[in-house]
Amino acid sequence: MHLRIPGPTPCPDDVLKAIGRQMINHRGKPFAEMSNRITPKLQQCFQTKNDVFILTTSGTGGLESAVVNTLSPGDKVLGVSIGFFGERFAECAQVYGAEVIPLKYEWGKAVDPDDVRKALKDNPGIKAVTVTHNETSTGTTNPLKEIARVVREFDKLILVDAVSSLSSIDLPADAWDLDVVISGSQKGWMVPPGLAFASVSERAWKAHAAAKMPRFYFDYTRAKKFAADGQTPWTPAVSVYFGLDVALDIMLNEGLQNIFARHQRVADKARKWVKSRGMRLVPEERFASNTVTAVHAPEDMDVSKFLSTLRTEHQVEIAGGQGIMKGKVFRIGHLGFISEKDMDEMTEAMDKALAKAKKA
Ligand code: PLP
Repeated sequence: MHLRIPGPTPCPDDVLKAIGRQMINHRGKPFAEMSNRITPKLQQCFQTKNDVFILTTSGTGGLESAVVNTLSPGDKVLGVSIGFFGERFAECAQVYGAEVIPLKYEWGKAVDPDDVRKALKDNPGIKAVTVTHNETSTGTTNPLKEIARVVREFDKLILVDAVSSLSSIDLPADAWDLDVVISGSQKGWMVPPGLAFASVSERAWKAHAAAKMPRFYFDYTRAKKFAADGQTPWTPAVSVYFGLDVALDIMLNEGLQNIFARHQRVADKARKWVKSRGMRLVPEERFASNTVTAVHAPEDMDVSKFLSTLRTEHQVEIAGGQGIMKGKVFRIGHLGFISEKDMDEMTEAMDKALAKAKKA
């Protein structure tokens, strides 16, 4: 099966081989050596000198860690949302007692940094901004650099969901001065689900020292204490670490800029196909994501037939719409282990499935 959903993504053979290895003691030297090898490689990918922690959890756990480690109940948070995952991040802050001031956009739109400036001006008590870099539900990449610049003007914390972008789309955490940045192993990293990564700035550490939200499993202080010995406070997903170690070598061997350029080329092919078949992208093209292409299903298209034909006749699995876009949108995942040739084969298969998915 060619898995072309926006995560989990396919893993290269060497990664699969690595995750099949026998277990090792997570309190022993070989694990610590591996962990001490992986962390600097992750820092390279995050383009940061800040701490980067590996948490055994999914991306959502990573988002939760950002919230509980930097905020206190009653803190005002600007919850910026352009879709399903932006709403999830804001909801998480709210559940932990933050007073969330929503800055919500219609799904398919990208954030206008001037709106962030206005919201921060109108609400001087805001402590932090939660924002999604790449909104997987709508295939939209926010202008994060510009958003971050605005947040800096007001000296607030910026907590970033980069689950489906980091590793595939340029995101220099230090150059953009981001406070907590979260990603997840099952996306562009080419490894199975199970790990989230969190980079933590000096500013975030200061906030952490005063933050009162309840935290235990995701406590960054505990993570840092154990990381000093190449360990984690709790039993880590050792097999995913094995895969990640190999995947990071593959990535750094290709080079970050080359990876970003490949994702751009593959995404361009997907977008070109969509337009040439008379269909519409969900976002404005200048904000269209290089990791997932979201497409409005034409009136005469049976989306579930399209997806099932691709699956059963072409062994290609793509995704439907999420939340309010269910049944109205389909999404092509093209992140991680994917080439231009793969996308050419995909568009061929999609053409055949499209013909069969026309409503009578
Ligand atoms: N944020 C974004 C942008 C995502 O794409 C996802 C997963 O699809 C998540 C958060 C949640 O990650 P997980 O499903 O690993 O908890």
